[in-house]
Amino acid sequence: MDISKSEKLKQHFSTRVTHQARHLLDLWRCLHDNHWQQEHVSDLLQANEKLLRFAQRFDSPKYVEIATQLDSTLSKVKNTCHPSSEELKTLNDLMLQLSQGVLRRNDQSNKPEKMIVVKKPIYMALNDSDNAIQLAQQMEYFGLRAELFTTQEELHNAISKRHPMAIIIDIDFIEADNGLAIIAEHQGIKEAGVVKTATPMIPIIFYSSHGMTLKQKLQCLRLGGISSFESLAPQAIITQLESLVNLVPEQPFRILIVDDSKSQALFAERSLNTAGMITEKVTDPMDVWNVLESFQPEMILMDMYMPGCNGVELAKVIRQDIHYINIPIIFLSGEEDIELQLAAMSEGGDDFLTKPVDPRHLLSTIRTRGTRARDLSHLIARDSLTGLYNHTHILKALDEQIKVCLRNKTSLCFVMIDIDHFKQVNDNHGHPIGDEVIKNLALFLTQRLRKTDFVGRYGGEEFAIVLPNVTLDDAENIMNEIRNNFSHILHGGIAAINSTFSCGIALHKGQSSNELIELADQAMYLAKRAGRNCVKVCPAKD
Ligand code: GH3
Ligand code: MG
Ligand code: MG
Repeated sequence: MDISKSEKLKQHFSTRVTHQARHLLDLWRCLHDNHWQQEHVSDLLQANEKLLRFAQRFDSPKYVEIATQLDSTLSKVKNTCHPSSEELKTLNDLMLQLSQGVLRRNDQSNKPEKMIVVKKPIYMALNDSDNAIQLAQQMEYFGLRAELFTTQEELHNAISKRHPMAIIIDIDFIEADNGLAIIAEHQGIKEAGVVKTATPMIPIIFYSSHGMTLKQKLQCLRLGGISSFESLAPQAIITQLESLVNLVPEQPFRILIVDDSKSQALFAERSLNTAGMITEKVTDPMDVWNVLESFQPEMILMDMYMPGCNGVELAKVIRQDIHYINIPIIFLSGEEDIELQLAAMSEGGDDFLTKPVDPRHLLSTIRTRGTRARDLSHLIARDSLTGLYNHTHILKALDEQIKVCLRNKTSLCFVMIDIDHFKQVNDNHGHPIGDEVIKNLALFLTQRLRKTDFVGRYGGEEFAIVLPNVTLDDAENIMNEIRNNFSHILHGGIAAINSTFSCGIALHKGQSSNELIELADQAMYLAKRAGRNCVKVCPAKD
């Protein structure tokens, strides 16, 4: 077989492995919603067997390893359909590894990796073709592929042949309200809100050059509109599209159960585990402190009455610790006295559930509280201009990932980025345009890196990135590709300026986080010295 043929075959299998891995991630997500019903567990097992077969044929050792481990754990769970917390943790880690692989081209290629494999194109039908072309070009740099259509027929044909990842359409495409009519036909909708077909709707981004009426906005919503725009600003549209390709499984909630009754604790644990939540249980309240530290829960489910100390007292003590000041605490008790419940709430409880508690009620309470607590900590950890991790939290992520990397004996790289001659951008074009460059770079980095990497704004026009599970060579290739592509992006609308950055990378070799930061900083300094717009690594190459 000639080389190009074998290359093609390889590529073909590579795509099949990736598709199957995506399918597996989808099934995994559904599994928790379906509370680990037998048939869903079997589906997952079968899909995984298929992945294993493809991976073996494609000779992709990393996928073979993941699929083999998944198979061994899933086979154990299959009979009971009650995963233990340990099993959940294992499965979750494996799914995370799988999603890291899916977002990368295969690691056997020597070429710089394209970070995101977006298999489907984005269809664009806009009256303003100049703007459409410009938007498509900018999307390209973000790894998104657009196909442009100028007639209704072309668009129709393309949609019937292949569903895109999303459609961006002018509500008045060709003629007034025609865009809405075209979408209504394809989404199988005849009248307001009545969906004819069972197939999922294609996500639509609607555009109108003159603003929309409330009636039109409602119509867009019913037609599967995920957003509507009155300008074709690439940044906002790309951010929107970005949310569609997020494949990383949501991290499971970590719940600490404190109950002196073993059977009650077990009951709660089982209900939470089958909903995909990771738990740890403590039956002696005196043990709480150790477990809090080692398990790092996001939420505590606590019995009100226990020997030695009651739940209210324990909650007070926990809240006195700065680390747990915001942790949601939900009380669980047979107590039906409303006065006592109110007292418990005023002492720092977030909710009160009366035993025997309906598992559905328990789950929905935990999900609501947990999601809100996560949203809150997300806000606290993020930089307001870019939405990236702020200085404190990117350093925290680095510390945590160094621990993980020592524990699992995996590799880790730390990256520092500084925009070149940024002062000139501000001086020549004004602060708002400077801000736009910063925002674009933030968006570009999150787009191009894996969702499991940590991207932070280190300060001003400096960024820091933690890349787990990456060799120094890979990190260098990735950052060089990003650097190169970023330099082509146009910022500031009609100002249309380019911007570049310098980058330093350090490989973790057992150093402390401070030492690692220092090394990356030195490498970045070398990049500035070498004329900017380049990447330097530490340890340096000969
Ligand atoms: P070099 O290539 O050596 O990095 O040159 P530089 O001009 O980028 O370096 P310098 O550190 O001297 O300037 C950084 C400038 O970034 C100074 C500061 O006004 C600007 N800056 C910092 N934070 C922000 C911000 O949030 N928005 C804007 N627009 N400018 C910022
Ligand atoms: Mg600087
Ligand atoms: Mg700079």
